[in-house]
Amino acid sequence: MGKVIAVANQKGGVGKTTTSVNLSACMAALGKKVLLIDIDPQGNATSGIGVNKADIRYCIYDVLVNDMDPLDAILPTSIENLFIIPASIQLAGAEIELVPTISREVRLKKALEYIRSRYDFILIDCPPSLGILTLNSLTASDSVLIPVQCEFYALEGVSQLLNTIRMVQKHLNTSLQIEGILLTMFDARTNLGIQVIEEVKKYFREKVYQAVIPRNVRLSEAPSHGQAIISYDPKSRGAEVYMDLAREVLELGQRTW
Ligand code: ADP
Ligand code: MG
Repeated sequence: MGKVIAVANQKGGVGKTTTSVNLSACMAALGKKVLLIDIDPQGNATSGIGVNKADIRYCIYDVLVNDMDPLDAILPTSIENLFIIPASIQLAGAEIELVPTISREVRLKKALEYIRSRYDFILIDCPPSLGILTLNSLTASDSVLIPVQCEFYALEGVSQLLNTIRMVQKHLNTSLQIEGILLTMFDARTNLGIQVIEEVKKYFREKVYQAVIPRNVRLSEAPSHGQAIISYDPKSRGAEVYMDLAREVLELGQRTW
């Protein structure tokens, strides 16, 4: 049975998409069969992994709103073992279109029920909000991985996310766990980054990954080439640390599962 991990933080620009794409790619490179689900209407994971808009026949919108078989929406990527259910801008309407529908928060969970056995991991790249799309993702997931940017207001907003997670645990998905806290865009040249790491570790303790993602220009360039970092520049620091993270996620998973 594959493990489903939502990559979530309602704050934009903290590294959710960069992490979803690169962690998926690194786990695939380590031999795991991985499905990446892009549930953000902006579709950054979709374009970032190199899916051509013209190749998208069905996307996650069709699965959520039109009850389409998710198998029909899965596309291969240029990375072996890595597959994607893409997003398109249609998804922007889903937040509103799903409001009057039955069991609107469990649609993704239902859709994944019979495909999750085909994969070792399913990663969901969430949008920067706590609306119905994120609720569907948290309801469908075994755990949530929270990227936190190393900046002054790092923890601002995280308590709101934790409240949402508790609400989901109470009403929609009692077994939802916190997979881990990932520090992103760390700049070793500033004291601030080090302070933020200490603060986040004080709060989340052993939940914080040892792998800390550095600010790395190659990571920001890779999406415009439609490539994960391990394809774009496998020797970069960004690639190395995302590989470390993938190993850490796999090891921790073995311990608790
Ligand atoms: P989110 O999905 O949370 O909105 P993104 O992953 O899209 O965040 O990252 C926001 C921006 O920062 C993007 O332009 C991305 O390329 C860039 N970025 C993300 N992580 C890094 C990093 N470690 N180093 C440099 N740039 C990064
Ligand atoms: Mg994003």
